[in-house]
Amino acid sequence: MALKTYFIETWGCQMNVLDSQHLEGLLRARGLEPAGDAVEADVTLLNTCAVREKAVQKVASRLGELRQARQAGGKPGVIGLCGCVAEQDGARLLARSNALSFVLGPGKMSQLGGALDAVEAGQRPSVTGFGATRDYDAHLIARPAGGRQFVTAIHGCSQHCTFCVVPYTRGHEVSRPLAEIVAEVREVATAGGREVTLLGQTINAYRCPATGADFGDLLRAAAQAPGLWRLQYVTSHPKFFTDGMIAKMAGIERVGSYLHVPFQSGADTILRRMHRGYSGAEYVALAARLRSAMPRVSLSTDVIVGFPGETEDDFERTLALVEEVRFSQLFGFVYSPRPKTPAARYEGRISRALAHSRIERLFAAQSAIQLELNQGLIGRDVEVLVDGPARRGTTQWQGRGDDNRVVNFSGWDGIAAGALAEITITGATPHALLGERRAPVARRPAPSA
Ligand code: SF4
Repeated sequence: MALKTYFIETWGCQMNVLDSQHLEGLLRARGLEPAGDAVEADVTLLNTCAVREKAVQKVASRLGELRQARQAGGKPGVIGLCGCVAEQDGARLLARSNALSFVLGPGKMSQLGGALDAVEAGQRPSVTGFGATRDYDAHLIARPAGGRQFVTAIHGCSQHCTFCVVPYTRGHEVSRPLAEIVAEVREVATAGGREVTLLGQTINAYRCPATGADFGDLLRAAAQAPGLWRLQYVTSHPKFFTDGMIAKMAGIERVGSYLHVPFQSGADTILRRMHRGYSGAEYVALAARLRSAMPRVSLSTDVIVGFPGETEDDFERTLALVEEVRFSQLFGFVYSPRPKTPAARYEGRISRALAHSRIERLFAAQSAIQLELNQGLIGRDVEVLVDGPARRGTTQWQGRGDDNRVVNFSGWDGIAAGALAEITITGATPHALLGERRAPVARRPAPSA
């Protein structure tokens, strides 16, 4: 079977987006060309996410759709299951579904070529698991056009929060050498990437395996990349910030003001059951330390509502923490059990109706806070990196400031995605700012390295 074209469907987080770019680069290196859709492609990869509920059912249902459409078109083709569901349930799905040609876990992406060779030889391989190190060839990443790019700093996670499937699907934490990361950031910036986001599940736990440099050292070195506008990073864990690290972070001009630090719950009993390693009061104190060192910091967070055993009083503590810290963005999730995780066996399940009513209260409180914070920005001038036309209306464009806030603004001739624009904020909603463009902004000169 001659495999000439490919299509990749990407579900989930920024790590999966970057992994898909890696998979695409491997396919291109093998001579394959992009196809118009998943049905007509010779090779279709489903790069899946296991963080949301019913992940396996969603994959099975998509496989069924693809099988039907391919049968109707008389084109069986190759379907590969990649990403976190591949690691978690790939072997089972391979046994269950004839539509599936092979399974490739996130720790084995570089073996895509070998998996395709095996498929061409009539096999149905399942390639999963993790080594002590990770194969990672940054030069093979097929980076899309545009000003925003991702660079991996840490693979996997070793924290084992009791609700989280990531340590099982992405393996234990492995930091890449600082020199490799910095070289990749410089290459990406040289190629036109204006904002680079360093990725890691616990990015501020970064420790260079070659030199012992910490996360502050990494930021300082990566931020020197010529042509870079902003260096961002996700996701920070509250327990890994030190005063020394915060001091280093505060002194780096090109580091974005967006700082995503999940707190998950405001109740200490729940935080203990989650194995998060801090108390609600410690989180509030951390937020104050971050704001004191970095007055422009724009704190964002994740919250889980309805964790097993969560009482009304526990939930009130979560609400109180939100009111006290006043996050610029909040991503809330109703708890649902994940395979292999300790919390899946916890007693004290909260009914879906109660959990949903709590998260609605949380969103209402956060929405009011966000509106107030955003309204406070009216009249300010902000610099944004343009992403493209805004979804609503063709006359508006959309970009994000270095605090990750969405800014919709009036368009003008010659604008393009990847440009920097200076905008005066004229209006605000809870989830976006509205503005008018002031004048084109010249690219900033690079600091001396
Ligand atoms: S630190 Fe984040 S990725 Fe790691 S186990 Fe906890 S929630 Fe999951």
